[in-house]
Amino acid sequence: MKQASEAPNLRRYGAEHPAYKSYSLHNYRTIPQLDQLSEDQLFAIEVVGRVFPFKTNNYVLNHLIDWDNVPDDPIFRLTFPQKGMLRQHHFDQIASLLRKGASKAEITQAANRIRLQLNPHPAGQLEHNVPVFDGERLPGIQHKYEQTVLFFPSQGQTCHAYCSFCFRWPQFVGMDEHKFASREAGRLVDYLREHQEVTDVLITGGDPMIMRARLFSRYVDALLQADLEHVRTIRIGTKSLGFWPYRFTTDADAGDMLAQFERIVASGKHLALMAHFSHPAELENDVVRTAIARIRATGAEIRTQSPVLRHINDSAEVWAEMWRQQVNLGCVPYYMFVVRDTGAQHYFGLPLVRAWQLFKAAYEQVSGLCRTVRGPSMSADPGKVQVLGVSEVRGEKVIVLTMLQARRHDLVNMPFFARYDAEAVWLDELRPAFGEEKFIFE
Ligand SMILES: *Cc1c(COP(=O)(O)O)cnc(C)c1O
Ligand code: SF4
Repeated sequence: MKQASEAPNLRRYGAEHPAYKSYSLHNYRTIPQLDQLSEDQLFAIEVVGRVFPFKTNNYVLNHLIDWDNVPDDPIFRLTFPQKGMLRQHHFDQIASLLRKGASKAEITQAANRIRLQLNPHPAGQLEHNVPVFDGERLPGIQHKYEQTVLFFPSQGQTCHAYCSFCFRWPQFVGMDEHKFASREAGRLVDYLREHQEVTDVLITGGDPMIMRARLFSRYVDALLQADLEHVRTIRIGTKSLGFWPYRFTTDADAGDMLAQFERIVASGKHLALMAHFSHPAELENDVVRTAIARIRATGAEIRTQSPVLRHINDSAEVWAEMWRQQVNLGCVPYYMFVVRDTGAQHYFGLPLVRAWQLFKAAYEQVSGLCRTVRGPSMSADPGKVQVLGVSEVRGEKVIVLTMLQARRHDLVNMPFFARYDAEAVWLDELRPAFGEEKFIFE
């Protein structure tokens, strides 16, 4: 096998070896490109950034955002707080505190009150998915669907930049104190030994690729050395290809990370990077393309996913182009999600019917190799619910749904029906069709 760690094609994008530089509320005024924003726009960042997390970096600023197109640029909206993300009365509360020079504590208190009204813990993540083992809760582990265990290493619970829509926003603003985090690969191994039904371990965050290679290897080596035959696949959920592809090119330990990928593949397990891309702009430069090529040279596979987001990627052409580019680069389109019922859903969310129309219009335009993608899918409490489309059954207009994943595995791939509703943006707004009282999962 070609050794990706030996970097065959690093020269492709010149001599650029930038150091990671991050920007958040305390230093964003030093971003030179922001000079073009009005005082009102800057103030909106200040206000909304008190409630939602905000972090960006020099790669996003210099390679992804088209500054001629700001404030409408999709990557600008993806990483910078936007006025519409707060409802007007919430915006006004924070704005007036800032204007009258309120204390930091007072502002934080107001921000926390607002945050609690924004459904910080959707889909029962904290209550229902954390397993109990030997009488003890394992907070760094979630096990919802039989085959797949999620693992949240504690040092992987941040990201190279924050997506403004992120459903994990409470942990980035300090509400959760990284409640999911676990330092203990040992507990994970013990748990997996007792759960022979598990085939996949998904290491996630935040973004586990924020970790130094040495630390990441400690977790993975523990897993590999445990020699768990039933665990066939290691998945890594990551946004690093979108937000910091130097992770796999010129970062000091890029080669070490790729070498670790090679060791996973050499152990006989399948390695899948679940890469989060929200817009084709994230695929259109030599840094990310080189990173993708180097990862693929390790024998790892890259599967891609994103929610569909108003103001960012609510266009069939954008999705079709994104899937085509991904296939062209050797990645496998995997999921289109519906934005979750938390945080600024009122800003990013689309009606389910609209999301399906958009998915269909994009799907129609692409070849079968792009149609590995599934969606639009809601990660809701009962499972991943896919909107299959709109139909009419005996004179009643309905939304046809199915479950891509379900807590109750007998419900996987079961079709079911909701009354047509052009406005509903989430599962809990739908009602069963045909006068029935309950959905199949209730
Ligand atoms: C999506 C998801 C998975 C993985 O599901 P796949 O369909 O196998 O990709 C696992 N656990 C949780 C909690 C999830 O939301
Ligand atoms: S990269 Fe993922 S976890 Fe991090 S902010 Fe974006 S959506 Fe959230």
